[in-house]
Amino acid sequence: MLDLTPREVKERSALRINPCKTCQPVGAMYAALGVHGCMPHSHGSQGCCSYHRTVLSRHFKEPAIASSSSFTEGASVFGGRSNINTAAKNVFDMYGPDIIAVHTTCLSETIGDDLNSYIMDLDLPEGKIVVHANTPSYVGSHVNGFFNMMMGFMNYLTQRTGTPNGKTAVFPGWLNPGDIRELRRLAGLMDVPATFFPDQSGVMDAPMTGRYDMYPQGGTTIEEIRGLGDCAGLIALGEIIGAEPAELLRKKWKVPFVLLPAPIGVSNTDQYVSALRRASKTEVPAELEAERGRLVDLLLDSHQHTYMKKAAIFGDPDVALGLTSLALEMGMVPKYVITGTPKEEFTRRANALFSKYGAEGCTAKANADLFELHQWIKNEPVDVMIGTTYGKQIAKAEDVPFVRAGFPVLDRYGGTLLPIVGYSGAIRLTEQITGALLDRFDRDASDEDFEIVL
Ligand code: SF4
Repeated sequence: MLDLTPREVKERSALRINPCKTCQPVGAMYAALGVHGCMPHSHGSQGCCSYHRTVLSRHFKEPAIASSSSFTEGASVFGGRSNINTAAKNVFDMYGPDIIAVHTTCLSETIGDDLNSYIMDLDLPEGKIVVHANTPSYVGSHVNGFFNMMMGFMNYLTQRTGTPNGKTAVFPGWLNPGDIRELRRLAGLMDVPATFFPDQSGVMDAPMTGRYDMYPQGGTTIEEIRGLGDCAGLIALGEIIGAEPAELLRKKWKVPFVLLPAPIGVSNTDQYVSALRRASKTEVPAELEAERGRLVDLLLDSHQHTYMKKAAIFGDPDVALGLTSLALEMGMVPKYVITGTPKEEFTRRANALFSKYGAEGCTAKANADLFELHQWIKNEPVDVMIGTTYGKQIAKAEDVPFVRAGFPVLDRYGGTLLPIVGYSGAIRLTEQITGALLDRFDRDASDEDFEIVL
């Protein structure tokens, strides 16, 4: 089908094809699933909620719980106040969460439902909480929905008691549970007591116990979110996804923050470790230095196979920038770097990376789509594609090796359990990318070049 993609690139302003993003509520739902005892709630039609749950379940291979206001024609005309009233009662009665996190949808945003006043008027059971975020899907992407929901929790819950809790807050951004676990391991090695918010580890990768647990062990607790205002500082990871929530915590409670790139690759992980070192005032342990050394050794060993290889990188902005940084460290040329999220900051930061490493002839674009990426590849091919499953038709059509990373990866298993962040995550990615290039070399090698040792 995608072989029909024309080579000639035409400027499009009102049409996205194969868009490299999804809608805001998907992100809001994922953020809410990172809070312990939370039921994400979709204020709109059942179809929206089903779609958002499906996307998350297909990526994580886990049930993504959520309830819906189940709009029908009546709510679409008269507003969804009675729907949210009924929903809150039913959800607390039947599913027993500690907190419901409501996000809006295109429909409820278009009719102008005022969730603030609806929630203030709710008659809630003792000790139960409802928070909300506005997540109109005709603006931004799932990345915006993720940080909007974070800010919803923070607006309703955070406080400053005046007694510091001695913790450092970490906003990991949109990462897989395996990544968050790895970031927490690094914080532990650096002896930093930390609150990770949100934290989907233990929720979207809950272990098989033989019984279904609607609210598994993981997730940031409500008390931990309340305590964010008492943290000594904040490390916000992901320069696109982390900026607005970090700024909100600083404005509300004067918590100082450092905004860092997603810790993918050597340099980005160094920055995370340095921030932890400043927070703990302890030296980097030998164990971590050795881990870094093994990664650098691997980069040197594999360099002969990755040097000047051209890559197309696509996905969520912070992950795509992190992958670009690693690709440059591998000596590769990140020929095309795109995200579907409309944030021009992405393009600026990608171009800064190209300049830092002296990479020439590279193109970065925000608010882009995979159709255009396909056209670029048709005109000037690449050696490898790195990104989400939605690139697989392009990889097949153009016969390009393909490494899956980011969200969503719908056609592989186990990736959400393993990190791409930290030194160990970079080792994993380097092994995958180099392996994909060498598999292609072997496939195309003539008999006399088909070697056992590479
Ligand atoms: S209608 Fe809007 S919120 Fe619902 S699935 Fe479509 S884009 Fe997402």
